[in-house]
Amino acid sequence: MQLRSKCEINNRKSANHKTDANILSLAVNTLKNESYHLGAGLITATIFFMITSSVVYSVVALVWSLFIDTDHLPDYIYYLIKNKIKFSLKEFLSGTYIRKLGKFTAPLHSWELWLVILIAGFTNELPILIIISTTTLIHLTVDSFTNCVNARFYFLTYRLINKFDTKTILS
Ligand SMILES: [Zn+2]
Repeated sequence: MQLRSKCEINNRKSANHKTDANILSLAVNTLKNESYHLGAGLITATIFFMITSSVVYSVVALVWSLFIDTDHLPDYIYYLIKNKIKFSLKEFLSGTYIRKLGKFTAPLHSWELWLVILIAGFTNELPILIIISTTTLIHLTVDSFTNCVNARFYFLTYRLINKFDTKTILS
């Protein structure tokens, strides 16, 4: 119930993105969500270290848990070029550009892609694939709980079928 009202508040702020205070509030909210990813990454890295005794695999898990979100950058860069405006970290973190652009691609945010990679990792006994896919699936689980989106949103095929149109996929 509390999550729902928090979503309603954030969606209202996102719709009313002209207010500077709302943009800042949404950016702070994103940083808070990144701290959840960092926490989940630390737990995942620790578990992988206990299983593999590999510092490299643990570092990969930790870095990857945050790196995944860089796939938001191409949409934002496209938005900047299209509107001939300068990069703003606050605007990027707020995510308000997503509705203005009307598109959301973020190809790494994809359940089906990483499930296939996870299966490929187990089938071919490739630990690195198992580590990055598991880390990504945990990241998507955190995103699903912290971002106000429908359950299909993080399926790449769902977004692709709907031409990444935010009017449809964010409804
Ligand atoms: Zn994410």
